[in-house]
Amino acid sequence: MIALTSKDYMAKEEKFGAHNYHPLPVVLAKGKGIHVWDVEGKRYFDFLSAYSAVNQGHCHPKITAALTEQAQTLALTSRAFYNNKLGDWEEYMTKLFGYDRMLPMNSGAEADETALKLIRKWAYKVKGIPDNQAEIIVCDGNFHGRTITIVSMSSDPDAFNHYGPYTPGFIHIPFNDIDKLAEALARPNVAGFLVEPIQAEAGVFVPDEGYLKKAAELCKKHHVLFVADEVQTGLARTGKLLACDHEGVRPDILVLGKALSGGVYPVSCVLADDEVMLTIKPGEHGSTYGGNPIAASVAMAALDVIVEEKLAENATKMGEIFRNEMSSVKSDMIEIVRGKGLLNAIAVKPKNGKTAWDVCLRLKDNGLIAKPTHEHIIRFTPPLIINETEMYEALAIIKQTFNEFV
Ligand code: PLP
Repeated sequence: MIALTSKDYMAKEEKFGAHNYHPLPVVLAKGKGIHVWDVEGKRYFDFLSAYSAVNQGHCHPKITAALTEQAQTLALTSRAFYNNKLGDWEEYMTKLFGYDRMLPMNSGAEADETALKLIRKWAYKVKGIPDNQAEIIVCDGNFHGRTITIVSMSSDPDAFNHYGPYTPGFIHIPFNDIDKLAEALARPNVAGFLVEPIQAEAGVFVPDEGYLKKAAELCKKHHVLFVADEVQTGLARTGKLLACDHEGVRPDILVLGKALSGGVYPVSCVLADDEVMLTIKPGEHGSTYGGNPIAASVAMAALDVIVEEKLAENATKMGEIFRNEMSSVKSDMIEIVRGKGLLNAIAVKPKNGKTAWDVCLRLKDNGLIAKPTHEHIIRFTPPLIINETEMYEALAIIKQTFNEFV
């Protein structure tokens, strides 16, 4: 059989796949730690980490061992029956994050949908808002996934155009604007405020220090649930287990996904206390795969790795090196370098018709893959296991690449 080339694989996807993505032209066949290899055997630094799902590095041995062992023992029972892993995982999660209960799902979007349902159930059963009147505050520029309800909350036309009619019940305010939040919270039927502690997809927008703390306090004052979507910012990415930990904020509902499995399996969940979580009764929400034994085993291994390998501390150190080094680069294409821990971005100023996309293509040629978000921003989010030597090697590639655009 003739081996296919990268070009062949790309042609297949182009011909047989839906055109709902525009990938960088690289076809990956292998991953280990902070590196991936294409089908021709060329090695790259992975500076996307599958949108922060691979915080623990590709194919981490402890996580893949949990995956394969559990897959050969018991993979899926559905929630029609108990399994001997889910309870362990629920106990693990509630102890680690300090909540009464966990509800498991698969994708980040499903976990956000679950949070929205919990907000509404709590609104009617606990807060006493008249049925069908609950409102949820969301931020402009948010990204919470791709379902119809979630795109109904989006301010990005690419996400919502021609998917209407949209789900009602959302109030939009600017991100990082505490006065606008206070104004919106004064409405009597507001039940929840859903926010990303750092807006990652929007281009890594870090709010002012104190914003999350003030927002959580205001929500408490108005008897409104403060809900943090930590699907991308969570699990050590920003230098703490949760981005909310930077301000000592404990969300009423916490949404997790992505790195909860270290990138080997879709696993997500929502954490909350009894008052919120027990508003949903048997049969009122669920998922065939949510809470399956593989997900439970993988998630516990993935979290063990984050804690045992001190990935939060490493993200802080490596992130500082990244921002310090890149901030000192003299390139008229670099508008700003920003981020927290290892969630960083560079806003790129186009030059001679060359854009962030061209920079990413050149980075790829030079052995590092990253992807633009919103055309002019490149996110740099390597696995959190990257060490100092590797970080400087990667930085040399990034600096050289920007220098090539003279
Ligand atoms: N929430 C946030 C903050 C995200 O960044 C993402 C994905 O990028 C999601 C939710 C959706 O997760 P998924 O793609 O697993 O549905």
